[in-house]
Amino acid sequence: MRIERVSAAAYKVPTATPEEDGTFDWDATTAVIVHVEAGGEVGAGWTYSGTAAVTVITDLLCDVLIGRDHREITALWEDMRRACRNVGIAGLVMQAISAVDIALWDLAGRCLGAPVHELLGDAGRPVDIYGSGGFTNLTPAQLTEQVDAWKAAGCRAMKIKIGRDDDRDLERINQVHRRAPGAALMVDANGAYTRGHARRMGHLLDELGVTWFEEPVSSDDVKGLALLRSALRCDVAAGEYVSDAYGAAALVGAVDCLQLDGTRCGGYTGFRAAAAVAGAHGLDVSAHCSPALHASLAAVGNLRNIEWFVDHARLEPMLWVGVPAAADGRVAPNAAPGHGLRLRPEAEEYRL
Ligand SMILES: [Mg+2]
Repeated sequence: MRIERVSAAAYKVPTATPEEDGTFDWDATTAVIVHVEAGGEVGAGWTYSGTAAVTVITDLLCDVLIGRDHREITALWEDMRRACRNVGIAGLVMQAISAVDIALWDLAGRCLGAPVHELLGDAGRPVDIYGSGGFTNLTPAQLTEQVDAWKAAGCRAMKIKIGRDDDRDLERINQVHRRAPGAALMVDANGAYTRGHARRMGHLLDELGVTWFEEPVSSDDVKGLALLRSALRCDVAAGEYVSDAYGAAALVGAVDCLQLDGTRCGGYTGFRAAAAVAGAHGLDVSAHCSPALHASLAAVGNLRNIEWFVDHARLEPMLWVGVPAAADGRVAPNAAPGHGLRLRPEAEEYRL
């Protein structure tokens, strides 16, 4: 079927309380949502981005899509990328392309009456999740509340933000361990440290049994990540800003597990390509955020787990009908055609 219509809009959802990590603070999350129509069916996709991603879709991507066969997903992916060459592809533009790619996969599934996970090559196996949040500005009581929610969801690993205050961060890690003694401990510094500070902090994290140290330095400091990977026992992880397979290739020597975000690295198409690059270097990948979308990716053989990020686990059911629930530390994709998610009418209240 020919693509007849493409629409995009931004939705801004306030967080429950102000949130903070090692290098950033925020009080709302913006989702840019795209709908693609063909043959009487509508596919939906989204990215967590800025309102400028709406302009990228309407100004640069619509012309590529309208009138084309909706089944040509990989050809459309390449053509969208080509159409944006002169404005730069990494970051914002690839976030817009990601939202469209996800909508195209959803549309393809709906036209065939098949779920996306089946189109990608899996029968719908659940994927391990890990609890994630633990913002640096949470009170001890708020952190306990998050840990308890992850325990209730069966999470066997939990990740908190660090990077503002070493002593307090170490105490917060101990708090998680006391509250969930069997859980693997993970931390994310969001690039807050210099190389030396990260090495010193990393040795303390090793002593506490932390298994995952995410973005100890900026993920742009690839050599710094590689040096820390050699110096520390815990896994060093990064990759949430990777835009494509080239970005994945740049990080493979510097991390123990490559993070990928399908809403930033080219949708399901880009995720699979980047995961294959990691696999060819003996690495697992871990899906960053957007659990409702990543739940469809069990066919990616080297997918270690999905981040059950507290912000997105809260807001995805506010915007969408059909969001898969976590159970026994795993999430299984929706069995309905496409990814099975439909925008709620109530989402209108958050539309910008
Ligand atoms: Mg991170």
